[in-house]
Amino acid sequence: MPHTVGIVRRYQHLWQLEGIEEVITLGEGRTPLIPVHPPWHPQKGPQVWGKLEGCNPTGSFKDRGMTVAVTMAKAQGKRVALCASTGNTAASAAAYAARAGMTAVVVIPGGKVAPGKLLQVQAYGALLLEVEGAFDVALAALRRAMADQPEWELVNSVNPWRILGQESAAYEIAEDLGRAPDLLVIPVGNAGNITAYHRGFQRLGLKPPRFIGGQAAGAASMVEGRDIEHPETVASAIRIGKPVSRPYAEEAVRTTGGAFVAVSDEAILAAQAELARQGIFVEPASATPYAVLTKLWDQGALLRDPDSIIVLIFTGNGLKDADTALRNFPARRAQWDGQPLSLAALVQREVEHV
Ligand SMILES: *Cc1c(COP(=O)(O)O)cnc(C)c1O
Repeated sequence: MPHTVGIVRRYQHLWQLEGIEEVITLGEGRTPLIPVHPPWHPQKGPQVWGKLEGCNPTGSFKDRGMTVAVTMAKAQGKRVALCASTGNTAASAAAYAARAGMTAVVVIPGGKVAPGKLLQVQAYGALLLEVEGAFDVALAALRRAMADQPEWELVNSVNPWRILGQESAAYEIAEDLGRAPDLLVIPVGNAGNITAYHRGFQRLGLKPPRFIGGQAAGAASMVEGRDIEHPETVASAIRIGKPVSRPYAEEAVRTTGGAFVAVSDEAILAAQAELARQGIFVEPASATPYAVLTKLWDQGALLRDPDSIIVLIFTGNGLKDADTALRNFPARRAQWDGQPLSLAALVQREVEHV
């Protein structure tokens, strides 16, 4: 195996984690950073880049933290990995536990997890437990049940190894750009990922970008500065009312002169559609940064400096939530009788449509 495969081997020197014998990896990290067409004329405003975290092994950034958490759990002789999840943590925990030969148990809010994520949990063979209520209820119940279980490891983002591993995305952005961006827009649910990026740039000794935390209007706990009892949004990955990492996320935004910004579900779905027109298919939560970017530009709240760099974090793959995508992207179909002439007519019509 090449020495550099996965997050742990690549960055263990930064984390002083040398001496690990068995690394549990699926080749996470090294995701592409690609140009994104902004909602403005490209010469009239900042450059925009998108970090495609959906290219990780289970289709979301959760794998960056999971490789570290499961590697450490295995090294400490733990046998069971447990998490509460809106879906992507469950998919990732199930995959890495399978890889490690550990048992995985995932607790999810009943009826509220996107089908692709459930399918992943099934495929990797984890035990699925559904509870009534939102994610926050599931996590609280699980934390109570964890006491006095020495062979169990909680692999939620309260697990410090998760946040540490997720810092690696900030290192990659700094490597690719040769510097930190000026502005970074990221969806915020439990607020672990924004915390990780902030720490990541700091660990490299770089001045962190201004952090803009994007939230859905129906789950805007950070924007409103309070817990949301019944969070509701189409963006199920950020349907969280009580962010565990709230204080760190507040610090990331306050100390960098950033902000938390809420966008409507309609704006999120419009952003998902716009990104797909650019060839980038993300799940709804991951479209939030583009919706936020559009809102800030419309408000005149962004620097117009073409030399400044904005990075959007596209946290998860569009295939994860096929139900929402099928509603957001009506099929473009037509009947064809198999004759060359009628195909030419159909193609001509299609060319004019675009
Ligand atoms: C987990 C997740 C988020 C939210 O990240 P937090 O660390 O909980 O703030 C956003 N988008 C996707 C796709 C996720 O899976």
